[in-house]
Amino acid sequence: MTPGDLRADAVSVVVNGRALVDEVTLAAAPGEVVALVGPNGAGKSTLLRTFYRATRPSAGRVTLDGQDVWGMPGKQLARKLAAVLQEAPGEFELTVYDVAAMARTPFKRPFEGDGAADRRIVMDALAELDVAGLADAPFDRLSGGEKQRVLIARALAQGTGTMVLDEPTNHLDLRHQLDALRLVRRLGVTAVVALHDLNLAAAFCGRVCVMDAGRLVADGPPGEVLTEQLLAEVYGVAAEVRPHPATGLPQVSVHPGT
Ligand code: ADP
Ligand code: MG
Repeated sequence: MTPGDLRADAVSVVVNGRALVDEVTLAAAPGEVVALVGPNGAGKSTLLRTFYRATRPSAGRVTLDGQDVWGMPGKQLARKLAAVLQEAPGEFELTVYDVAAMARTPFKRPFEGDGAADRRIVMDALAELDVAGLADAPFDRLSGGEKQRVLIARALAQGTGTMVLDEPTNHLDLRHQLDALRLVRRLGVTAVVALHDLNLAAAFCGRVCVMDAGRLVADGPPGEVLTEQLLAEVYGVAAEVRPHPATGLPQVSVHPGT
């Protein structure tokens, strides 16, 4: 596993004349964990979709280790880049193990079954996300948070050096949120993570990129980016930002107002 160098270079996605993503340039250096934040509809998911080749940019390029992802054979991309998507797929009648084991497909020959090594990788990944006990359960019956952990386990089992995660923690309880983001950091992979929780972004990501109305409006260390002024401009909220007493990282708090 070698962490990748993931870049979006002036990427735009235009649908019906509207730029959902508007000339965004963003680079994640090898091993860097970058948070992507911004209001609903800002274009975060659309940008991430261009990374894992679900939406083709109307203009600009996405490269992984210098290669245009849209020019790479599917298997080659899948060995280098894993995605944790926002929508849990309707994995009708598949078990948790089956869903996670899809991660190993890019490493197999056509019609090759699961080898012992693949099974161990998948079970280890499920154990890492605290869902090994659910391996034989139907995926459809899990809670939202359990599904999300299985999908993170699947990305982990893919063993890639680069991950794209779209709100991977939005259904998770506090401990599992921390566990999941700690895991991403510990792996040493390059990661771009869309997050809504700005305090988690500040705590786990060395860089925070902010999107608003399709554009990248800020990009830098959390202490520089997450300011009261930016939160007012981008989110339209009056929030307080104070340094965390222990870490010095910015902590965002809001009050109910009147
Ligand atoms: P975010 O993830 O930041 O909440 P999205 O990238 O999902 O934002 O969406 C950005 C905007 O693009 C939204 O206004 C959304 O409704 C719109 N949008 C997303 N996908 C499409 C599509 N396929 N066709 C038209 N509009 C879309
Ligand atoms: Mg989204």
